[in-house]
Amino acid sequence: MLEAQGSSHGGEVRKSSASPASSARHMLEVRPGLFLGGAAAVAEPNHLRKAGITAVLTVDSEPGFQARAGFEGLRSLFVPAQDKPETDLLSHLDHCVAFIGQARAEGRAVLVHCHAGVSRSVAVVTAFLMKTDQLTFEKAYENLQTIKPEAKMNEGFEWQLKLYQAMGYEVDTSSAIYKQYRLQKVTEKYPELQNLPQELFAVDPTTISQGLKNDILYRCRKCRRSLFRSSSILDHNEGSGPIAFAHKRTAPSFMVTTGSQAQCTSYFIEPVQWMESTLLGVMDGQLLCPKCSAKLGSFNWYGEQCSCGRWITPAFQIHKNRVDEIKMLPVLGSQKKKL
Ligand SMILES: [Zn+2]
Ligand SMILES: [Zn+2]
Repeated sequence: MLEAQGSSHGGEVRKSSASPASSARHMLEVRPGLFLGGAAAVAEPNHLRKAGITAVLTVDSEPGFQARAGFEGLRSLFVPAQDKPETDLLSHLDHCVAFIGQARAEGRAVLVHCHAGVSRSVAVVTAFLMKTDQLTFEKAYENLQTIKPEAKMNEGFEWQLKLYQAMGYEVDTSSAIYKQYRLQKVTEKYPELQNLPQELFAVDPTTISQGLKNDILYRCRKCRRSLFRSSSILDHNEGSGPIAFAHKRTAPSFMVTTGSQAQCTSYFIEPVQWMESTLLGVMDGQLLCPKCSAKLGSFNWYGEQCSCGRWITPAFQIHKNRVDEIKMLPVLGSQKKKL
């Protein structure tokens, strides 16, 4: 049986075996029709039937109960996740929250469970409460902990839920917040910095002739080679620390801070395709123009400090005085695309 193997379940195993009494209560109703539990909650179809549960969201390293007899008529979603701070739960949150919301809209009672019902499932339910009740991370988590005192997600999930809040309770993969988060995951996932996924690199602006509306192109001041677009700039708040998201209730205001960073003498951007050969397998170094080799800036996978005092990790910075801004105009003959 899958659930007999405990070693791959991370920190939650220790907690569950340390307090066997808590497994007597298979699940807890945290909102009408919304249950939270551990693996024991799905061990017996009867537990689910008694509670009227017809939708199950599993956040675990293995699917566990799926495709077993006795669970007919259940709607289920499995999200593979280990209970580790470096686990990327954030990228799954929209899907999880939508699954719970959809099931509840259909009048189904929903169970969200992981192995011990302490960290992963707690993080997912907290995200759901944040979004549906428009609560800050702290408020939603506190609320859940008053109902379930042993609820304790790992610090990586806490951080991810704060980013979720900063994005306005929706994972915006084009936002600076998410791009920066994804870049931070890279150094954890690929410590040797080789074979990085291609989608990490922004398309080289010399390979596409058109920009988006209001897109600004940045070119080498010396040879005018196109280097990156304004959509690649990863904005940060001046001088604020990396945990300064809490006061940012609404993502839109966070995202339109472009241009207000007077103190910052560099643009921090996502990596662009022309940087690839320079970045692979190297922890830090200079960024040179791919055409004229003029020094543009520097990079460091473990971070660099901006002139405003803010630490950016990882950092790909281009000095503002090495590039020129060019407003992108729609190319003639492509009007049909504008309509
Ligand atoms: Zn700065
Ligand atoms: Zn150049």
